[in-house]
Amino acid sequence: MIIHLKGSVSEEDVKRIAEELSAFSFRKNGHSVLVTSSAIKELDEKHGEYVEEHFPFGSDMQLASRDYISETRSITIGNNKIGGTHNNTLVIAGPCSVESEEQITQSAELMVELGISTLRAGCYKPRTSPYSFQGLGLEGLKLLDEMRSKYGLNIITEVRDSTHVDEIIEYADIVQIGAKSMYDHGILKRCGKTNKPILLKRGFGTTLKEFVQMAEFILSGGNENVILCERGIRTFENDTRFTLDLCGVAYLKEYTNLPIILDPSHAMGYAYGVGDLARACAAMGVDGLLIEVHPNPKVAKSDASQQLDHAQFTELLGSLKVVTESVGRTVI
Ligand code: PEP
Ligand code: MN
Repeated sequence: MIIHLKGSVSEEDVKRIAEELSAFSFRKNGHSVLVTSSAIKELDEKHGEYVEEHFPFGSDMQLASRDYISETRSITIGNNKIGGTHNNTLVIAGPCSVESEEQITQSAELMVELGISTLRAGCYKPRTSPYSFQGLGLEGLKLLDEMRSKYGLNIITEVRDSTHVDEIIEYADIVQIGAKSMYDHGILKRCGKTNKPILLKRGFGTTLKEFVQMAEFILSGGNENVILCERGIRTFENDTRFTLDLCGVAYLKEYTNLPIILDPSHAMGYAYGVGDLARACAAMGVDGLLIEVHPNPKVAKSDASQQLDHAQFTELLGSLKVVTESVGRTVI
């Protein structure tokens, strides 16, 4: 159950009631919000005088549910807004990893040339093998920070584990939680205690309900700025890297109030399919796309086969604008 306490309830009483109900508690619009297990369906009489409004739920999809907030949440990223009534499709692009100053500068300059506001690149890479390139770490974050100040770009980068979550929160405009880290409660809980937008990727073996439950870990900490990202799930099919679950996207749009960004690059795993898939995603009227683009994909240190080169991305962006417009949206 979600409980909105009256604005006049003292801090002490909020703390006491939260303890009595084993509830999470955070402030919103001048009052305290408590979130209990959905097993609690009715208010206790002794709490009645403190309560302004309460919302019982049939499952633990609560803060993320359209039954609680019917409109998609509006999230601000620098000068951009997604969700709400904005009808924007935020295109996030850039290489899989920051590899060098020269490479990330070339990427940043392409984004500026194309009017893309949000540059992606990983610094802490959650690689499948310990012998693969693991990312430049803090050095990479500093390079991204330089790109932000030099080119006025917003930066999204990934947190791999809780040892550097504070660093990422400090440097990034959007914190990305990857498919392999999305169950890490240390990361989720820390991300609940910042107001920075969080892009939560779906694990490749994660059901839709589990995915939303992980988002609830962040939301129940008080961070309202959670974006869901579908990036492909594992199926019996091996000829593409993953299978992009567009049915799942329809489900998330119907039942959750969180903006949705789709990642055709990691789903497909091969550059040849990314354009078609990206246009299909845009046609679903989603809040954003995340596309891997590298100045020279052949020599990329991670995810070489799926990254578009600059010419391919430039061409794709033109057609993406047409598709997003046809569903009443604007590429930002
Ligand atoms: C990435 O965005 O480069 C990445 C590692 O993605 P995922 O967590 O979806 O595999
Ligand atoms: Mn990648």
